[in-house]
Amino acid sequence: MKGDLLAERCKAIKLLLTDVDGVLTDGTILVLPDGGEAKAFHVRDGLAIVLAQAAGLKTGLLSGRSAASVAHRAADLKMAVVRQGVRFKGPALVEICAELGIEPREVAYVGDDVNDLPVFAQVGLSAAPADAPLEVRNEAVMSLSAAGGRGCVREFVEAILRARGQWDEVLRTTLGVEPS
Ligand SMILES: [Mg+2]
Repeated sequence: MKGDLLAERCKAIKLLLTDVDGVLTDGTILVLPDGGEAKAFHVRDGLAIVLAQAAGLKTGLLSGRSAASVAHRAADLKMAVVRQGVRFKGPALVEICAELGIEPREVAYVGDDVNDLPVFAQVGLSAAPADAPLEVRNEAVMSLSAAGGRGCVREFVEAILRARGQWDEVLRTTLGVEPS
């Protein structure tokens, strides 16, 4: 996609939505003896979600599976949308947009597997981590350099905020970081 078209799409975004397993995590599911699940999240993705919020974006997650640890992480990051246990993600996206009063083209979404493709087909901006299957990366607007659970959401957020001209300002106002 040409840079100016990509920038236009970034400027329209109102919601940053992400898959969980394979995107916010590396896909590993640690099953604990009590049947609960533990997941490992990357801290840079967490900070990127905070920065996206500071830039005025709503944030959320859309997961096919369901785990208490994910609900804790979403609450910690003050995400506005938390949808777990969703088998059909395409209709779920339509519902989320209706609830927020936004259009699918105003959503940026990161997903790593074939169940994310119905979302890719609707949103304004889609992205896949570096380790996603080829058929998923081929359908994404952005094929990211970072892998799932290794900062791919950070890479996506930085690209969006830079395209919107907000990256430097958000670093300054949120973290007191002066751009070099
Ligand atoms: Mg996934």
